[in-house]
Amino acid sequence: MDYLKGLNEPQREAVQHIDGPLMIIAGAGSGKTRVLTYRTAYLIEKGVDPFQILLLTFTNKAAGEMRQRIENAVGNDGKNLWMGTFHSVFAKILRFDGKHLGYTSDFSIYDTDDSKSLIRAIVKERGLDDKVYKANVIYNRISGAKNRLIGPDEYLNNSVIAADDTAAKLPEMGKLYKLYTLRCFQANAMDFDDLLYNTNILFRDHPAVLDKYQRKFKYIMVDEFQDTNISQYLIVKKLSELSKNLCVVGDDAQSIYAFRGASIDNILNLEKDYPNMATIKLEQNYRSTKNIVEAANSIIAKNKNQLKKKVFTENEVGSLIELIKASSDNEEGRLIATHLFESKMAHGLRNTDFAILYRTNAQSRAFEESLRKLNIKYRIIGGLSFYQRREVKDLLAYFRFVVNQKDEEAFKRIINLPKRGIGDTTIAKIAVTASENQISVWEVVSNIKQFQAGRFADTIEGFADLIKSFKIMVEVNKKDAYEVAAHIAKASGLLRELHEDKTVEGLSRYENVQELLNSIKQFVDDNEVEEEDKSLSSFLQTVSLLTTADSDDPDGDNDRVTLMTIHGAKGLEFNHVYVVGMEEDLFPSQMMLQSRADLEEERRLFYVAITRAEKKLMMSYAESRYQYGRLKPCEPSRFLDEIDPQYLQFAKNIRRPEEKPAPQGFVRMTNREQKAPDFGTSNKPTSTASLIAKPAARPVVGNTYIPSQDFVPSDTKNLVEGDRVEHLKFGFGKVKKIDINGTDRKAVIQFEGTIGEKTLLLSFAKLRIL
Ligand code: ATP
Ligand code: MG
Repeated sequence: MDYLKGLNEPQREAVQHIDGPLMIIAGAGSGKTRVLTYRTAYLIEKGVDPFQILLLTFTNKAAGEMRQRIENAVGNDGKNLWMGTFHSVFAKILRFDGKHLGYTSDFSIYDTDDSKSLIRAIVKERGLDDKVYKANVIYNRISGAKNRLIGPDEYLNNSVIAADDTAAKLPEMGKLYKLYTLRCFQANAMDFDDLLYNTNILFRDHPAVLDKYQRKFKYIMVDEFQDTNISQYLIVKKLSELSKNLCVVGDDAQSIYAFRGASIDNILNLEKDYPNMATIKLEQNYRSTKNIVEAANSIIAKNKNQLKKKVFTENEVGSLIELIKASSDNEEGRLIATHLFESKMAHGLRNTDFAILYRTNAQSRAFEESLRKLNIKYRIIGGLSFYQRREVKDLLAYFRFVVNQKDEEAFKRIINLPKRGIGDTTIAKIAVTASENQISVWEVVSNIKQFQAGRFADTIEGFADLIKSFKIMVEVNKKDAYEVAAHIAKASGLLRELHEDKTVEGLSRYENVQELLNSIKQFVDDNEVEEEDKSLSSFLQTVSLLTTADSDDPDGDNDRVTLMTIHGAKGLEFNHVYVVGMEEDLFPSQMMLQSRADLEEERRLFYVAITRAEKKLMMSYAESRYQYGRLKPCEPSRFLDEIDPQYLQFAKNIRRPEEKPAPQGFVRMTNREQKAPDFGTSNKPTSTASLIAKPAARPVVGNTYIPSQDFVPSDTKNLVEGDRVEHLKFGFGKVKKIDINGTDRKAVIQFEGTIGEKTLLLSFAKLRIL
């Protein structure tokens, strides 16, 4: 038990407290996750059967990393733990016991796209206006209800909700919820929220099942407890009712999912539900330098609504937080990539030591481009992941339908893929026939001639025979996931269709499908060793629960810079961290700011961002940014003003590693001119506001034109031939011609220098009329 030496006193106390409820609410980087890891190892060493330990983490990735550490400490026993995200653990339980609710163990998991597509279909079938009954809105309402454990019947009978729906002009909302639930059930499918909702119903209505799991899980632990919602809380509470051995760790200052129904109240509820609960404080941060810890403390102190706690560190003071100012979002990308490159060289670091964190996924583009130009490898976590690509989802839909023929969304995706000449009307008709007769789409399709004569009947019959042949491979011949998948890819015609498409996109789609097949092969090989289930159904379960923070590298080269949203970065740590896009309306996000509580949630998010950094923290903001196709001026984020300025300085003189000469006639600045403003000898400004207000020189950005500092695009409505203009990227030019084509207006412009003639779409062009 040597590893207990790697813990401080309160951490050790937490690890050794094994009987009775325990709560640790402590600041970032204080070793909460480490305590859970060590505590699990400790329990196993004390003789607790790993099958009786349930460890709930925030991402599958976190679970994987913890499992690895536990295995290092206790050996193979660590493999038998129950650990993973709420969704993955309870999906597994529903595979075993969902039958009590009428689901088979092969139920499909609908992702958000499937759910919204089903909602759109129902809205259409009921003849409702899809501009009022937007799939997004309906989906969020249903999700909100489920997370508060309000089922469709209760929803329909609830007068408060009814009044709210009327106010929102959605009187049919309750009926849609009910129909949606019914259709999912008929499709033997659960959406993400159902995985928690149905677990609650299972435990509520089937006491014997609950009893089984209460006896099974003698020790339950939850990481990131502050981000559980009520539905998750109730599951944990019920499961631990018998043993009372519940240990939760979290940090109210890092609660960032209130918008999805997570509630800090769960911390208070827990104290009420377990009056004799022990609490342990952890106050020492082991992750970050003093400057970072203290800057983070200075921010979070602005939140009124928080539990009091101290965070200190004995780590070195470290360098000041660096502020990087860019004139535009593209320049922000270039400056950060350059800064990163220089730091990497100067400190002999690896790419994995760096993370670029942003508020929204869309911000990644500028950084991707600049990193690529400097040949720095990166990985994007979140965003459009591999499994969300169209061709990958298409093939997965085939697999889903072969495993579960009731899966209506999978059916709709593949019935006309590759093209069989079956249109939307026919597809909708099949769905309606199934729903009206209370049977599955498969029962309609496999007996199509009973329901429809028409000219499509033969084609559909052919499709049904194809699916039947795949089913035989799975059910009768018991082929493994790879054999079935490779056969389906070929026999369905999907692979051929992609292979025949010789465009660049077509080629990359073909490669993605091959990559999917490779990953299935890998899955089968891994599971062969572990003697686990290698069926197609088991593969599907694994992929449908990958969270956005779990994407892996396509080519196994792991030395990459991480690009991700701050939400996705929770719990992680990096040597150098860039928090980018520090602008009003972006961070804090305009979309989220309705009230003081929202601002506090954004501030907690900022606290999460800052506390990811170990050694160095950089923050950047741009003075203008493209939004919805327009260049908009931006203001620095109020959060920058909130950091105690003694911890901040402007980044100095970021040079480009290799600079190409600018084309003739273009503005070019010398290295001396691009120096950041001089703040005197101390280099410590007295207030952040004054620091930001100082005009920083605009750095050279390769061969791209640098617009004048007051560049504000003009309204191009009045642009006429002969006008002289300035373009944000292309510099000065003269309008040669205006083309009007429907609502599109285009201008042919002769730019100076090497740029030459360009045709620009005026609704997007950033032009200043001179
Ligand atoms: P977060 O709130 O961000 O999730 P956390 O409280 O879970 O943070 P950990 O990730 O467990 O913190 O720990 C932060 C870092 O400090 C990790 O690198 C961990 O290994 C290290 N650490 C924690 N406790 C100790 C200790 N007693 N001695 C040395 N290092 C420690
Ligand atoms: Mg943690």
